[in-house]
Amino acid sequence: MQAPSPVPWHTLSAEDALRRAGSSTQGLNENEAAARLLRDGPNTLKGSQRQSVWSMFLQQLQNVLMLTLLAAAVLSFILGHTLEAVAISVIVVFAVILGFLQEFRAERAIRALAEMAPPLAKVRRGGKEFLIPAEEIVSGDVLMLSAGDRVPADGRLLFSAVLQLEESSLTGESLPSDKDAGAVVALDAATGDQSTMVFAGTTVSAGRGEAVTVATGMQTRFGGIAALLGGVAGVRTPLQDHLDRIGTILARSALLIVALLVIAGFFRGQPFLEMLVFGIALAVAVVPEALPAVVTISLALGVQRMAKRNALMRSLPAVETLGSTTVICSDKTGTLTRDEMTVRVVHTSGVNVAVSGTGYEPSGTFSLDGDTGMPPSLHSLLTAAMLCNDARLEKNDEKGWYVAGDPTEGALLVLGRKGGLDELELRRQHPRLDELPFSPELRRMLTQHSFQGKMRLFMKGAPETVLAACSEVLLSEGSASLDASMRRELLEVADAFAGRAMRVLALAEKWDGEISGSVSGMTFLGFAAMIDPPRPEAAEAVRRCRSAGIRPLLITGDHPATARAIAGELGMAGEGDVVTGRMLEEMDEEDLSRAVQSASVFARVSPEHKLRIVEALQLHGEVVAMTGDGVNDAPALKRADIGISMGITGTDVAKEASDMMLTDDNFVSIVDAVEEGRGIYENIKKYLSYLLSSNMGELGLMVAATLTGLPLPLSAVQILYVNLATDGLPALALAVDPPESDTMLRRPRKRDAGVFSRAMVALLLGGGIWSAVVNMSLFLYALDSGRPLREAMSMTFASLVLIQFFKAYAFRSQRKSMFSRPFANRWLNLAILWELGLLAVIFVVPVFHEPFGIYPLSREDWLLVALVSLTVIPVLELVKFLVRRGVISGYS
Ligand code: ATP
Repeated sequence: MQAPSPVPWHTLSAEDALRRAGSSTQGLNENEAAARLLRDGPNTLKGSQRQSVWSMFLQQLQNVLMLTLLAAAVLSFILGHTLEAVAISVIVVFAVILGFLQEFRAERAIRALAEMAPPLAKVRRGGKEFLIPAEEIVSGDVLMLSAGDRVPADGRLLFSAVLQLEESSLTGESLPSDKDAGAVVALDAATGDQSTMVFAGTTVSAGRGEAVTVATGMQTRFGGIAALLGGVAGVRTPLQDHLDRIGTILARSALLIVALLVIAGFFRGQPFLEMLVFGIALAVAVVPEALPAVVTISLALGVQRMAKRNALMRSLPAVETLGSTTVICSDKTGTLTRDEMTVRVVHTSGVNVAVSGTGYEPSGTFSLDGDTGMPPSLHSLLTAAMLCNDARLEKNDEKGWYVAGDPTEGALLVLGRKGGLDELELRRQHPRLDELPFSPELRRMLTQHSFQGKMRLFMKGAPETVLAACSEVLLSEGSASLDASMRRELLEVADAFAGRAMRVLALAEKWDGEISGSVSGMTFLGFAAMIDPPRPEAAEAVRRCRSAGIRPLLITGDHPATARAIAGELGMAGEGDVVTGRMLEEMDEEDLSRAVQSASVFARVSPEHKLRIVEALQLHGEVVAMTGDGVNDAPALKRADIGISMGITGTDVAKEASDMMLTDDNFVSIVDAVEEGRGIYENIKKYLSYLLSSNMGELGLMVAATLTGLPLPLSAVQILYVNLATDGLPALALAVDPPESDTMLRRPRKRDAGVFSRAMVALLLGGGIWSAVVNMSLFLYALDSGRPLREAMSMTFASLVLIQFFKAYAFRSQRKSMFSRPFANRWLNLAILWELGLLAVIFVVPVFHEPFGIYPLSREDWLLVALVSLTVIPVLELVKFLVRRGVISGYS
């Protein structure tokens, strides 16, 4: 391989860099790009290791409990209980396989999530712009960068417009650094000073730029660092931590009880080694070692379900938080509205010009009331609208006419075309010489073009911003000075459009103007008012929010009247008035705190206001979900309990700061995700209470027998069987239970409420204690009636297993009767059928009798066992009745 040229890229001119990279300003052609991809490999970082299937399997075997159990099997074998030893070993294998499958499933689900949203990058190839997966970028590709983008590869700038990059991941410097394609950079400049270069892993904080790719993948500066770093550490959720702690406490108490039982048994004259085997079996059975894996699985599976409903979770803890969300702060454009803009009216020279046509198809006509001709200012307005514009209007067979870029700007292109202008022609004749890109804080955009040797400046933006920069107005008779009353009238015109739910953009121009931070002396050309209809399904989603005790807030950069009108259409407008960004700035903490409680609509809000709103809401104990798409939304997204970014229109920076990304940018998906989040949490609770209740029933039975001086009612193998075979599958099925129909009719769960609500504890105790009482009574009765111990034990075993089955169905809800949609969980039905089959085999096939200590039961005994175990149903129904009645409160 040829050694790389010694001249560093940052000292080359843009032309030389292009030449060396074998490219041009038009970019590579597709064939060349494909060939380079094959030659250089994908633009990805290596180094994140995957756990192999084998190591996951072996990890299961390293589980202390499993090892102890194997030791118990060996002990049994030494003691001469060969069949028992085999049974224990088979159960171990079963448990290891189940454990492995759980871990494997969880790991795969989580990995699939990571691969679900590959980063995209904008490149120019063969003169056309494409959005491609960042990993397909090759050296020579021309990258198109704008505010909020993550730079996908190292590149030499070809063009820059007030471009600033945040390079802290490389240089540690958190202030953005200025970039300039035309700068001359010293040979020995440090990375942070190479202002002609952009580097992979950094982000664009402002402006626009284009760069030719000079290094990809591990060849980039970031690749060099990434190689040192290795994989990403797994994040644990608060619930997982909480359950880990509960698991440890339970394990310790269970082990203590078991130890006491073993010692008691020993003093009562049972052989020590046999008691030890029993003790180990009991310990393994009651220690909830599958807990963490099951929680991960239900989280991960839930996350997959959410993905199907267009919400990609970027962090597992957020899944839990989602369920307790109390406020959803949503922006308007695209989330609650369709983001399909159509200009309906143009106001220029004091007249309203109506525009016909729908969507982005550039066919439609202009019409005026009365018979006056079109005002001459219209032409200037359309020219400004098309030149001060970065969007492109395109058409294909699949989508018809569509906009590449900002829909607001797309609508202005359509408007210009309806007026007979052609933006491509205009852009060719009057190329852009300078620009100030749009920013949501300043709400305006400026461009500079040459017209017959003269400079002409165009501005477009929010009416009040543009009017503030104007001192003249273009009228039919020529330009006139813009006095205060005229300015007020114009603002009223804009307000009236906004009051009809329209978004209003103002346009202005200035001959011989230069671009600077504070532009003034411009000439006002007019307004373009466009509709952006609400999404049809959004009103229903707003209603669902309300019935679920969640307050939806509209927070938008748009005009207050537009915001209020849309909020009204969606049923979001609350009691309070619309609060504007300017009002927010004047409020102290107390006023703000009051405002966020009463107002539902915030307009003309800048990203930094969003941060204040989140903080004020959080001070009231609200759990806040907040949407955002721009680079400056990142702090608010990070601060919110659930930061939500837009998958389609969002910037990379916003996506990275968020916990959840909407693949369809739709408000409805947020509400769906909350519903899933609630369901997931409920399911984990169902699983947990079933498991604990079972263990309590079994331990209670053993303790009662020991305390009353009776023989042990279950053998080691039986107890292992009940826990590892009988309980395992139904418990897992509960973890994937379909959500209850009233999930979105309850108030949000309190975040700090913990998993153990009173209702849950009541159900858990009721089931556990009743199971112990019933089985103990049955055992006593069987012994009393003169049945041999083995028969009494078999009856107790059968009754315990059946009680577990009934409990599994009952634990599907803490509140509703088990007879409402009893068989809705397909997995639970299958699990129970399979378990019933197994039980039948154990009782019917003689080979299993010895190892499982089975005595074949008579028909009468079965009837008795069935009747006795059925009693658990009314007991649990009673508990639920008390919960519904509010006697047992604290239901969440
Ligand atoms: P949100 O998405 O937060 O509901 P939005 O998309 O309406 O609101 P921004 O994009 O921040 O909010 O726009 C704020 C204001 O800036 C708009 O009301 C409009 O007046 C102006 N504006 C929007 N897009 C452009 C643009 N491309 N060029 C110039 N001005 C614009």
